[in-house]
Amino acid sequence: MGLKIAAGGFLHETNTFVAQPTRWEDFVEAGPWPGATEGEQILTRFRGINLAIAYFMEAAEKAGHTMLPLAWGGAMPAGKVTGDAFERMAGIMVERLKRHRPDAVFLELHGAMVAEDHDDGEGELLRRVRATVGPDVPILMSLDLHANVSPQMVETADFISSYRTYPHVDWGASGGRCAEWLERVLAWKPRPARALRQAPFLVPVTTGCTYLEPSKSLYDELDRIERETGVHLSLNMGFPPADIRDVGPSVTAYGADQASVDAAADRLFAALLAAEAGFAAHRPLAAADAVAEAMRIAKSATKPVVLADTQDNPGAGAPSNTTGLIAELLRQGAERAVVGIVHDPRAAAEAHAAGLGGTVARLGGGGEGPGQEPLEGPWRVAALSDGRFRGTSPMLRAAVATLGPTALLAMDGVEVLVATIRQQPIHKETFSHLGVDLNSRAIIAVKSSAHFRSGFQDIAEKVIVCLSPGVNLEDPASFAFRNIRPGVRLRPQG
Ligand SMILES: [Zn+2]
Repeated sequence: MGLKIAAGGFLHETNTFVAQPTRWEDFVEAGPWPGATEGEQILTRFRGINLAIAYFMEAAEKAGHTMLPLAWGGAMPAGKVTGDAFERMAGIMVERLKRHRPDAVFLELHGAMVAEDHDDGEGELLRRVRATVGPDVPILMSLDLHANVSPQMVETADFISSYRTYPHVDWGASGGRCAEWLERVLAWKPRPARALRQAPFLVPVTTGCTYLEPSKSLYDELDRIERETGVHLSLNMGFPPADIRDVGPSVTAYGADQASVDAAADRLFAALLAAEAGFAAHRPLAAADAVAEAMRIAKSATKPVVLADTQDNPGAGAPSNTTGLIAELLRQGAERAVVGIVHDPRAAAEAHAAGLGGTVARLGGGGEGPGQEPLEGPWRVAALSDGRFRGTSPMLRAAVATLGPTALLAMDGVEVLVATIRQQPIHKETFSHLGVDLNSRAIIAVKSSAHFRSGFQDIAEKVIVCLSPGVNLEDPASFAFRNIRPGVRLRPQG
């Protein structure tokens, strides 16, 4: 049919309890994915990367459509997106939409963006896009599994397809699904029927991992209902550290008629409600217990034990520089332990200045909040790099990661990877590009909640989620919510 389709992306997962705002420069710097990109460059720069826009463009072009590139930008999770950054990106998109006059619009969004002036960042962006293209141009979008979906998003967009995996290995496929369903969306006249169901409880981020129950079975059930009904479904786990009205898990559904859409949404929503006890059953270990357990297992293990330092996960907006777990490894005399990624530009620069075999006085911490006590050295510089490598893990495969100046620092039996650009370890190459043979390590500690599993689960004897002081609190009930809609339990069965 050969449509002209405008395509762009604007992704941010906002932790409103973090003071550090997310500025335009953070979208430009990026880290694990390409930096902010405008216009024609989008057509080439994103090819082959596991991102929704790449898969959408490839599938839509194969179907004979023409791409009209808008802009794409994603920043690491942190505090609210500044008014300047939001207006710049929204402004570029609206201006290009006015010029292009597309037949359809595809947007790669996150779904948990909070801007300084807009609690519902995506809802506001979509409102402007709709006002620009008019009521008859279909708007399709991909969302992250952690989207906090609002009524405005569902009302404004004609189709939502969220990731169905955490780690997000189907990030790109979500864009492919939008292209695949486009013909049906166009046929659902005058506009697709849609439904939104918001859960009456929040779930801890780590429990949404689709390697684990109850999440694994819930996404199997989604596939089953979709196959049986022809209604397109998404199940979003929500992003708890966001003090906004529409925080939390939700189900969205799009289809031909309201009755079938409501029935499919209700079926999946019932499964989500029935899984509440399963979400409540997860019990992470305190750091001291986790290290002791890892050392016990390591005595007879053939593969490394992986510790997930979830409360300092930069993927949830944390600073990624806390020292609690490292201190515990040192205190208990752990051997062959490696930790990463600690965001410490100062220690990385000192290590590069000192050179291999030199020393760095201290690492980590030094900021506000829990777990910020720096660890005194001397730390020996064991390896150095410019922090650039191509990742092979299924999530974000083929993307060139940019850690900035990076160093491996060692003391006693513990090595710590310090880097200049904040991000979580998704790829094994995070460590191996510095010469670290992960299979020879007894313990690998990662500052990540679940994404690390896409690169590390297959080499792990066991994964232990552990709690050391940090701002990405595992228990959502620990956050001081003021704006959440009434009647939502702050933890499953809470
Ligand atoms: Zn996510």
